[in-house]
Amino acid sequence: MKFGGSSLANAAKIRNAARVVERFSPENRIVVVASAMDDTTDRLVELGELARRGESARASKILSRIQKLHTKTAQATSSRKESKELLDRIDRLNKELEKTVQGISHLRELTPRSRDYLLSFGERLSTPILAAAIRSLGLKTQALTGAEAGISSDERFGEANPLAEVSYHEMRRRLDPILARNEIPVVTGFIAATVEGSITTLGRGGSDYTASLLGAALNTNEIWIWTDVDGLMTADPKIVKDARVLAKVSFGEALELSYFGAKMMHPRAMQPAAQRKIPVRIRNSSKPSLEGTLVSSAETPNGGRVVKAVSIIRSVGIVTVSGTGMIGSPGAAAKVFTALGSSNVNVMMISQGSSEATISCVVARKDVDNAVRALQLALLGQGLVDNVVAERDACIIAVVGSGMKGTPGVAARIFGAVARKKINVRIVAQGSSEYNVSFVVSEREGPEAVRVIHDEFQLGRKP
Ligand code: ASP
Ligand code: MG
Repeated sequence: MKFGGSSLANAAKIRNAARVVERFSPENRIVVVASAMDDTTDRLVELGELARRGESARASKILSRIQKLHTKTAQATSSRKESKELLDRIDRLNKELEKTVQGISHLRELTPRSRDYLLSFGERLSTPILAAAIRSLGLKTQALTGAEAGISSDERFGEANPLAEVSYHEMRRRLDPILARNEIPVVTGFIAATVEGSITTLGRGGSDYTASLLGAALNTNEIWIWTDVDGLMTADPKIVKDARVLAKVSFGEALELSYFGAKMMHPRAMQPAAQRKIPVRIRNSSKPSLEGTLVSSAETPNGGRVVKAVSIIRSVGIVTVSGTGMIGSPGAAAKVFTALGSSNVNVMMISQGSSEATISCVVARKDVDNAVRALQLALLGQGLVDNVVAERDACIIAVVGSGMKGTPGVAARIFGAVARKKINVRIVAQGSSEYNVSFVVSEREGPEAVRVIHDEFQLGRKP
């Protein structure tokens, strides 16, 4: 069970998380993974920046807010018997955090390595608090850091890669005996350590990754991600009134949905679970009686419906390069994408008509100007590209479902429905997985497009 930051945001939430563990503990052996409380990681990022710039007044304000949050929460969540030991531990960590910040401001330097060390305090502080809260309900627990739980990684600070095979062995070796004693290991999410023992982080949102690794190593029945939503939904309920929680999706579908903005695990985090075919369940920690969404390797048909969900990515723009010189000219596309890549512009969607005279790229709206400049500099005046134009008013609609694969007529239904509402479709793409069809419309018409597709495929009705 992994508890996200929103499920651990304050004392009441932590007590609730402990009760959730208790509720499922009699009939299950459980390993718990804890994220940092609330937005603590963001605050630590900010703290690091301020310290590096030498803005000590603002830095110490944030520092003391983080320290107080954890001290207060520890006091409020643990039983009297627990609280002395816990408070000592939180105190030690708070002091260590303070020294780390002082070090950064003295040196005016924040390396990826010291940044990871700084960020690790979020989980190192939250984990013993959660463990104590579970213990005060009469269960036995043991708090562990990622490294203590056997997770080692390479030295790519900031987004370290776990050394999976070594770690799998170590994770079993460290956790099996704890589980055998009927104790509940409570592990810091997000952090690991290099073989030499330097703390690393697995990238933002990395607690899911920790849970996925532990589940894979221990070959658990399921991995539960406790969060603040009921599960993956057929559409954004703010846009579609009868949007509903999906009971089951496949890993492939979950991948598409997470790419298109669903509140879901990062694809990287899903991989260990998917590889070992361990189902992941997304559940709401404030409604533990709901089953949530089960993500598994089974391709679950959707009651004869080919589409499962439709989502929207707002605030994108289209950048189009055109020129008759591109026709039949090998390497034209390479030049376009090299120019965008070297200016750090992420391309979300691509289309090239078979006339080859234009290539359109969909990028985040904040990147549009940058993209245009990069393309103009790199491509104009060489006889290849005559024109670079941008449109800022766009959004992507993504229609997802593994049932679309090999089913003719889905695209016709999608675009037929959209056309009946007189919505103009600008760009179309279908991934070769055939798990999604995505297209671009103006931002204003996006919500309407989502609704007509939701209706067309009757996604609001239970399959
Ligand atoms: N606390 C880390 C973050 O906010 C890891 C996580 O929450 O999964 O990115
Ligand atoms: Mg978090």
